[in-house]
Amino acid sequence: MKVFLDLGWFFKQEKKAYISGILLLLFVALLQLVPPKVIGIIADHIKNGTMTKGLIVKWVIVLTMVGLATYILRYYWRIMIFGSSVKLSKILRNRLYQHFTNMSPAFYQKRRIGDLMAHATNDLQAIQQTAGAGVLTLVDSLSTGGFVIITMAVTISWKLTLICLIPMPFMAMLTSWFGTMLHRTFHKAQEAFSSLNDKTQESITGIKVIKTFGQEQEDIEDFRKQSEDVVQKNIIVAKIDSLYDPTISIIVGISFFLSIVFGAKYVLAGELTIGQLISFTTYLGLLIWPMLAFGWLFNIVERGRASYDRVTALLSESVEITDNERVLAIMPSGDIEYKIAEFIYPGEKEAILKDISFSLKSGETLGIVGKTGSGKTTLLKLLIREYERYKGEITFGGKTIQEYKLEKLREAIGYVPQDHFLFSATVAENIAFTNPHAKHDEIEGAAKLASIHQDILQFTDGYQTVVGERGVSLSGGQKQRISISRAILMNPEVLILDDSLSAVDAKTEEAILSALREEREGKTTIITSHRLSAIQHATLILILEDGKIIERGTHEVLMNSGGWYKEMYLRQQLEELVEHGGH
Ligand code: ADP
Repeated sequence: MKVFLDLGWFFKQEKKAYISGILLLLFVALLQLVPPKVIGIIADHIKNGTMTKGLIVKWVIVLTMVGLATYILRYYWRIMIFGSSVKLSKILRNRLYQHFTNMSPAFYQKRRIGDLMAHATNDLQAIQQTAGAGVLTLVDSLSTGGFVIITMAVTISWKLTLICLIPMPFMAMLTSWFGTMLHRTFHKAQEAFSSLNDKTQESITGIKVIKTFGQEQEDIEDFRKQSEDVVQKNIIVAKIDSLYDPTISIIVGISFFLSIVFGAKYVLAGELTIGQLISFTTYLGLLIWPMLAFGWLFNIVERGRASYDRVTALLSESVEITDNERVLAIMPSGDIEYKIAEFIYPGEKEAILKDISFSLKSGETLGIVGKTGSGKTTLLKLLIREYERYKGEITFGGKTIQEYKLEKLREAIGYVPQDHFLFSATVAENIAFTNPHAKHDEIEGAAKLASIHQDILQFTDGYQTVVGERGVSLSGGQKQRISISRAILMNPEVLILDDSLSAVDAKTEEAILSALREEREGKTTIITSHRLSAIQHATLILILEDGKIIERGTHEVLMNSGGWYKEMYLRQQLEELVEHGGH
């Protein structure tokens, strides 16, 4: 029950709703005591022949009023308690979301997205249930149960009450036990189902590979096995579930049996009236629900406890990349200087970057080339502080990048990766992603610079065409050009094109780059590319190999020095010539 204490902050915050909800709940518990009493009184009147029309009308009116009041009050306490508990999951969901967006890529490398989704859905639901149904069940079962038992013992017969209560604790225990079993088996069934889902998704996305390697039969067999597993596990759930009702019925039956046997004895002995016995059995009926609920309560709370622990553990995981206290809330600008002795990815042993030092004056263009895996992207990710903890420092405008507010640093840098994520929104919205208030002609201007305007006009709804899973599917080159328009519209201090023209042809690439040179006059641009023609105009070109700079200089210097760059440049020129037949 400690989870209720842990959630104390929330109950305090929602004090009013909870207190009024609980008061109403108590009132309803008291009202419930009236009908069985009335039924007993009516039965006695009938037996004694003292029933009159007037009396019937009177009691019927009482019953109707009680029924109506219970109906209305139940509605209100439900709104108060359940309504508040929804707020709890909203608060926690927002906290989690904010936390997720603050976490570095290292966090996402450690955890599976599916697990994080499960925390954000199942766990929050379990916590919400504890704060809603949990509180409700606790108060309701204690108050209804307590009131009913007291009324039975005080106004009817404490002996009979004691006798009939004997089976009740067993019922609460069994409910709790069944609950645990059901939850466990249900959980296993859910797990089997989600791995079947994963499998299906994998097979569908990888269908080409499966076909290429002729693995269809194996894949179908694998699917059949997993599917069978889901069925088996669900059958176990159904079996346990089917046992529950009959078991509870037996226990309830025993209680009623005891009440009739002993009750009849007391009536015959003149200790009770027949009306009192009728009231008694009706009260007994009222006790079933609180007992069952008490059993459920343990499960709800147990699940809530586990979920709350998981969510708090997740929330308390520290954000690795944070601002220290005395950060500058200004946008960085000026020269960029790298002095990195060594960088190792978290959890790895090998250094990915070694002895990287160079400086780039504000407004200059840097070109970085090198084989796949040579460390180009890593080098750039350090500038946007996706990773830290390297030996050395990077300065921007004379100050280390950690001296700026992270948000400001990232606002100053427009990073376009090779595969940019496009949202399921319109083309215009995707381009205006970092600048939602951009005017249409600004969006169009950016699209023109990125040579995608003509393509967009061909789409059915032009700039209003929806892209992504639910919309038009774009080619790799179109996606890249939309991502570039996004960065152009942002007009950042530093624009980074990280192999972000790999899917467009050489001519288009040249058109985009020369448009950019004009547009970004005086602003810093960093380009990594496989095509050396893309970076030949750069002020400084770095050639990376295994995380080290092996050559550096301008195009002319590098061509004269006759190393890797020259060889590669000539080879690519030749390839280009061959491809275009000398034109
Ligand atoms: P490039 O951009 O030149 O292709 P990268 O910077 O992407 O090279 O990668 C350089 C090396 O770092 C590669 O060997 C790659 O496997 C490794 N690497 C990249 N990202 C990570 C990561 N998150 N964790 C560990 N190693 C990584």
